[in-house]
Amino acid sequence: MSFRPPALALVFAASAFAAGGPSQVEKVVRRIEASRSLPRNLRTLCAEIGPRMAGTAGMRRAVAWARSAFEEAGVDSVEVEPVPMPLRWEEGKTGVGVLGGQGFPIRAASSALSPATPRDGIEAEAAYAGIGSPGHILRRRGELADKLLLIRLHEVDSFEGLAVEQRDAMIAMREAAEIGAAGVLFVATRPNGLMYRHVNGIQGKIDPLPSAVLAREDGLRLLRALEDNPSLRLRLDLPNKIGGGYDTHNVMAEIRGSERPREIVLLGAHLDSWDMGAGCLDNASNAAAVVEAARAAVAAGVRPRRTLRFALFGGEELGLFGSRAYIRRRRGELDNHVAVIVHDMGAGPVKGYSVGGRRDLLENLQAVLEPLAERGPLEPVTEAFFGSDHFDFLLQGVPSLIAIQDTSAYYASYHSEADTFDKIDMPQVRAAAAAAAAVALGIADLRERFGKRLSRAGVDDLLRETGLDEQMKFLGIWDDWETGDRAYLEPRTAPAKR
Ligand SMILES: [Zn+2]
Repeated sequence: MSFRPPALALVFAASAFAAGGPSQVEKVVRRIEASRSLPRNLRTLCAEIGPRMAGTAGMRRAVAWARSAFEEAGVDSVEVEPVPMPLRWEEGKTGVGVLGGQGFPIRAASSALSPATPRDGIEAEAAYAGIGSPGHILRRRGELADKLLLIRLHEVDSFEGLAVEQRDAMIAMREAAEIGAAGVLFVATRPNGLMYRHVNGIQGKIDPLPSAVLAREDGLRLLRALEDNPSLRLRLDLPNKIGGGYDTHNVMAEIRGSERPREIVLLGAHLDSWDMGAGCLDNASNAAAVVEAARAAVAAGVRPRRTLRFALFGGEELGLFGSRAYIRRRRGELDNHVAVIVHDMGAGPVKGYSVGGRRDLLENLQAVLEPLAERGPLEPVTEAFFGSDHFDFLLQGVPSLIAIQDTSAYYASYHSEADTFDKIDMPQVRAAAAAAAAVALGIADLRERFGKRLSRAGVDDLLRETGLDEQMKFLGIWDDWETGDRAYLEPRTAPAKR
């Protein structure tokens, strides 16, 4: 859903219309459009470094790459900070097979954060357990207990369908755990044997039950075999490697502001990915765009009123750990964060920016977006979204935007082995990088502050108005917000000077 407020006078974005020659924003955008470093960087991330799951050598290489890419860009400072992760998880050699001589090969992948099965795997009777409708498994408690449950999720044919998949899978997992099932096998939501990996919960904890995704065609064949033989038995092997906590990293860079250097406009994207494919659309494209925004701004000699901070977050896929660590470390600085802009919706064209329900930001956002319209209109969107690194800033009352990108080419390879460099349309990545740079720069250079930080009561109202409260309750993170480690951070009293 998008919202189009009436056109406004352009007084806010005064610098975009500086007399005599192209504006600062225009200079930066032209550099990005002609950049040779953006395609080179994106190729390095996707094709040389490859998958970057937190805790892997790929992510460590990506952090080293990010540090040197920012340094080469010539920014004022670069910082690498630790992000504590609760546990290490890696898939072992997953196996699913039919017992008793009726077998056929089944391609399967462990769900992320699934527990490991015992050394000899699990053998149990299979049972079809529906499509993830609420209450369905609970009603068949006696019949489904101790069995390996096959869940036939709907085939996904749009980005919105991925949210339905996540919801249905979470419902199935919770109910299966409650009735004491042996495990859950999901028929993949995307066809042609495509394998992918998601989490079944967003709290970065090991699931209560083992689960795996079966290639759609193999899963459907298994369901037909089960129709013919209702006492079919299966074996599930998930020798996942699970370990203790460790640190992954965020990488930040800064261009200090000329008039109000303490006020920060943060442009961010996550650097980590899943371990299948190369995490190229999710989210190397946007990580490279953030680096490019910094490089182009320095190269164009831009020095905005406020400080531009660029952040590549770690540990996003496992539970938004990088942005949460950033926030915890800077609890005393959050009042100085004028805006946070996050890009994490694939590599398609940017259609607009969501203000996460903050209607008070629309007028200033419109003023920032309007000068960019000649390269394709960017719309302010009011609808609020969970699911990326902007979210915990929203919970802290910081004005936070997320780029709304065209997802028509994104959903098909989302979190899958097909998220690879060949899916990249470089002109689209350039355009997304240009939008990111222009919006960050536009906000950093506004005469007045982009928006205020909301109080705890203000955030409570926002969560209710946007329906995020219900989403958070479903996702199991409402208590974190009420009293836990996502609670509102009042600024710490500054230490007395000696
Ligand atoms: Zn992502």
